[in-house]
Amino acid sequence: MRDSFDVVVLGAGLAGMAAACRLQANGFSTLVVEIHDKPGGCAGYYERDGFAFDIGATTLVDFDEGGVGDEFVKHIGLTDLTLEHLPGYQAWLPDQTITLHRCPEQWRAERLRAFGDTPATQRFWREIDDLAAVFWPGAAKGLRLPISGVGDVARAISTIAPAHWPHARHLLTSLGQLVRQCGLHDNKPLRGLLSMLCEDTLHARCIEDAPLINAALGTSIRGRIARPAGGFKGFWAALARRYGKLGGDLRLKTKVIKVEGKAPTLRVETLRGIFNARAIVNTVPAPLFAPMAPPEARARMAPFLRRDRGSYGAGIVMCLGVPESEVADHNHRHHQLLQDYEAPLGDGNNMFISISAPGDNICAPAGYRAVMISTHTEIERWRGYDHAQAETAKAEVGAQLLRYARRVYPRLDENARVFEIGTPSAYARFARRPHGAVGGVRINMRNSNQFAMPCDLGGGVYAAGDYTWPGLGSVACLLSSRIAAEKIMAAA
Ligand SMILES: Cc1cc2nc3c(=O)[nH]c(=O)nc-3n(C[C@H](O)[C@H](O)[C@H](O)COP(=O)(O)OP(=O)(O)OC[C@H]3O[C@@H](n4cnc5c(N)ncnc54)[C@H](O)[C@@H]3O)c2cc1C
Repeated sequence: MRDSFDVVVLGAGLAGMAAACRLQANGFSTLVVEIHDKPGGCAGYYERDGFAFDIGATTLVDFDEGGVGDEFVKHIGLTDLTLEHLPGYQAWLPDQTITLHRCPEQWRAERLRAFGDTPATQRFWREIDDLAAVFWPGAAKGLRLPISGVGDVARAISTIAPAHWPHARHLLTSLGQLVRQCGLHDNKPLRGLLSMLCEDTLHARCIEDAPLINAALGTSIRGRIARPAGGFKGFWAALARRYGKLGGDLRLKTKVIKVEGKAPTLRVETLRGIFNARAIVNTVPAPLFAPMAPPEARARMAPFLRRDRGSYGAGIVMCLGVPESEVADHNHRHHQLLQDYEAPLGDGNNMFISISAPGDNICAPAGYRAVMISTHTEIERWRGYDHAQAETAKAEVGAQLLRYARRVYPRLDENARVFEIGTPSAYARFARRPHGAVGGVRINMRNSNQFAMPCDLGGGVYAAGDYTWPGLGSVACLLSSRIAAEKIMAAA
């Protein structure tokens, strides 16, 4: 079997497979090495009793015409991916339900109804809409941060029209500041919704921490979400097939233990042999990669890892396989719930429910649906438990999530065929996330954008994925993998 490649990619999650597909489509020979027995990582899936449950991501973001995902799909010629562009989703606040419509006109009317039709709310939404209208297309054109060379400056100039450069001043503003400037600090429903959206898309602890430009994108994904046919099982089947057709080499159950050397003679040591490469793209969680990286890359990552230590959060996912009748009550199949405006976010206070599509028999047997419920949690809460304590905490959180989910689906779990809960230890075991930390660093004003971990780690080693800019989610993985791939192509 071949053991030398232009590029070896570490990890077959979204970022790794996207980088590999893009490079392979551009004529580079690539190998992806993945420890697990299937690709997917935090956007993966597992199968149980005829169901396929998504363990992390349940939706793809910005795969509409001209979007970040659409550019990727077209670039690699991924023609057999079928997407359902969702009409939006519902936010269940403690005192009202709001529909986050995909349709901009419907969303404009809904948000004024929900948060007030005043000069202050109009100003607020105008600012958010303006930023989203500039930076979504900028992202799709391949904006790169942190700017670390003339190539990145040139890219910034070409992706954002000069008329919009004054928006760059908002790199120093937080979403919380804008809310206050608009006099909306006391608007609880607005703050509640924004907090949920920022936690899910930026992993930010609160809107005061959320950088405004990133938040404008994070709070406007409602018009850009899609669900792959067959959920993420369907997605990975299509992507892995395409990678194979492009000539890529995906090796599963292949644990990376060390990377040595410098471009163009890098060596990747795995438990299944040694591979040579001219460049490496790492998407293995940065804290795990640092100890096995060559000295230059390790040194470049060190200050970021020191700074961000303690800034990670974890996740809990609950999977149910239920008869269709238990989830037939609503048109929307995706719901985000907040239970209490005053309580901290996490552990059910901000949770997401996703239901597989009717007739999707990859995710569920006929007459049944797969239900995925996820929430954020603090890593510290789960550390130090012995087995019995962990099981008790898991049962308690499961009961709590189910109680909350019954606000939306009162009959949920009356006759479930599958009921399973994954805590941070499941993410640590199956996605190799240190302590179950998912979603990368919690983004704030001091660690994002120009202050994010750079893509180019030196010596031919590049980083992509949710530990790098722009952080969490499918858009972020596609953007960071594109930056890594383009830098490798430019260097070659
Ligand atoms: C509950 C939850 C819900 C989410 N919902 C959404 C959503 O709806 N939409 C969205 O866009 N995003 C969502 N996200 C975020 C998204 O899933 C992640 O940001 C994304 O999947 C991260 O991809 P990655 O490639 O950066 O990392 P990973 O997916 O973690 O990939 C890294 C890969 O490296 C492998 N690996 C680790 N160590 C080694 C080693 N030593 N050798 C070889 N391989 C190794 C791992 O097994 C893994 O496959 C969600 C995340 C969670 C946890």
